Amino acid sequence: MRQVMVAGNWKMNGSSDSVKELISGIKDGMASVTKAAVVVCPPAVYIACVSGAADGSAIKVGGQNICDEDGGAFTGEISADMLKDTGCEYAIVGHSERRALYGETDALVAKRFAAARRNGIIPIFCIGETLEERESGVTNDVCARQIDAVIDLEGVAALADSVIAYEPVWAIGTGKVATPEQAQEVHAFIRGKIAALDAGVAEGLQILYGGSMNPGNAKELIGQPDIDGGLIGGASLKAEDFLAICQAAE
Ligand code: PEP
Repeated sequence: MRQVMVAGNWKMNGSSDSVKELISGIKDGMASVTKAAVVVCPPAVYIACVSGAADGSAIKVGGQNICDEDGGAFTGEISADMLKDTGCEYAIVGHSERRALYGETDALVAKRFAAARRNGIIPIFCIGETLEERESGVTNDVCARQIDAVIDLEGVAALADSVIAYEPVWAIGTGKVATPEQAQEVHAFIRGKIAALDAGVAEGLQILYGGSMNPGNAKELIGQPDIDGGLIGGASLKAEDFLAICQAAE
């Protein structure tokens, strides 16, 4: 039985004061969350502060990205060791904003994924199609290509210690959520693709849905057989909403 996971991607939002308020609000509500693994991914400069505040609770912390190199002259990047040093157990890898706005290719994303794994950080590996790709009928091909970049570099076994987040780009931050059927169809495709290589890895793999998930639609989405939780953007910025999504997984 796979554990449900709810991960919050805070993106480039917050201040010293507001992140303290947000993490303390989530911590206060954790007594009502008994089943879901809860992860928050603050902006890098606030990770240490959030990790400290989350200490003593079941909340785990993740980075929003991770460098493919382990250290050295890589201005602006954050290494796996730095993430671990500040309390992270997870890192988002290949978010569509990184791919679209900062030019991260499938190959670079796969290298970032590899850096996370070799250093003991669990990658939350994001994949998903644009609206144009969906309308052209290539959703599965796009997801397969993105996954294959990782499998080619690391092998299918690497996915056993990882989390995949299926995030249709057209649903991210738009309020246009995929229907539970649309999301389930792609999640089943992803699991089936991996099962063709290793049934055990596929069965244990947590596949999250991301894209305008909120307290109103979370239960039905997470209720689908191949949806093991959510990666939440906008709705993770309010403790009450984020906790309501965690509770939808109960
Ligand atoms: C995301 O950016 O990963 C995301 C799912 O955002 P939102 O929930 O705001 O659509």
